[in-house]
Amino acid sequence: MTPGERREALEAVATEVRACTRCRLHAGRTRAVPGEGSADTEVVLVGEGPGFNEDRQGRPFVGAAGAFLTELLSTVGWRREDVFITNVVKCRPPENRDPEPDEIAACAPFLSRQLEVMDPALVVTLGRHSLGTFLPGARIGQVHGTARPPAASAWADGSLVFAMYHPAAALHQGSLRRTLLDDMQRVPGALLDARERRALAAGSADGQAPAPAAPAVPAALDDADAPDDPAVAADPAAPLPPAAGEPGADQLTLFS
Ligand code: SF4
Repeated sequence: MTPGERREALEAVATEVRACTRCRLHAGRTRAVPGEGSADTEVVLVGEGPGFNEDRQGRPFVGAAGAFLTELLSTVGWRREDVFITNVVKCRPPENRDPEPDEIAACAPFLSRQLEVMDPALVVTLGRHSLGTFLPGARIGQVHGTARPPAASAWADGSLVFAMYHPAAALHQGSLRRTLLDDMQRVPGALLDARERRALAAGSADGQAPAPAAPAVPAALDDADAPDDPAVAADPAAPLPPAAGEPGADQLTLFS
């Protein structure tokens, strides 16, 4: 698919989203929020649903949480326009309540098509509802700051899924601001791992030597959120990705 074809395909999805009445959320929306950013990106960020400001403007992450998300991206040298930002549900739940499972299911084909068009190497989930879409059963307190392949039943096949708290969580719980900043520093390393997995898989498909096991991406083992379930804890012996400020981290460009 050419860049122009990708942009057209994403715009076709957005047009359908703006006219969608598949679930009850359409009744209360001012504007649907399909998502925005680069159609050619390697990194897609998936939040939960539009809030008040997003509903008014028809754009994702434009309120206080959006400002923090932009700040998070800037700490690794990325801009909003370098990535694609969208949500699990494209219309605002009333009073910013959590999206219901049937609403998430009704909206899922839109997200699935967006991911199919962009085929990102890395999907960054923002918040537990986004996490649950790609890694059902995973607990955000245990897996944030780590990357792993999506569950077999989910989408984004061939991508890695990197879990983060929702930026709005830091507005309500100040201690999570440091956690989000720390986790963000691991995202460029996760992208490098995702690229490597793809290259190895491509080599394997070409009949070359079998790909070795994918490198683990380490957990953010801060005291407050240290994994306590071995089933979901990342390998603490895995090498750390480049830290921000070191060559290859904040210098990592998308789409190299
Ligand atoms: S949330 Fe999704 S499925 Fe529901 S009306 Fe909006 S676009 Fe349609």
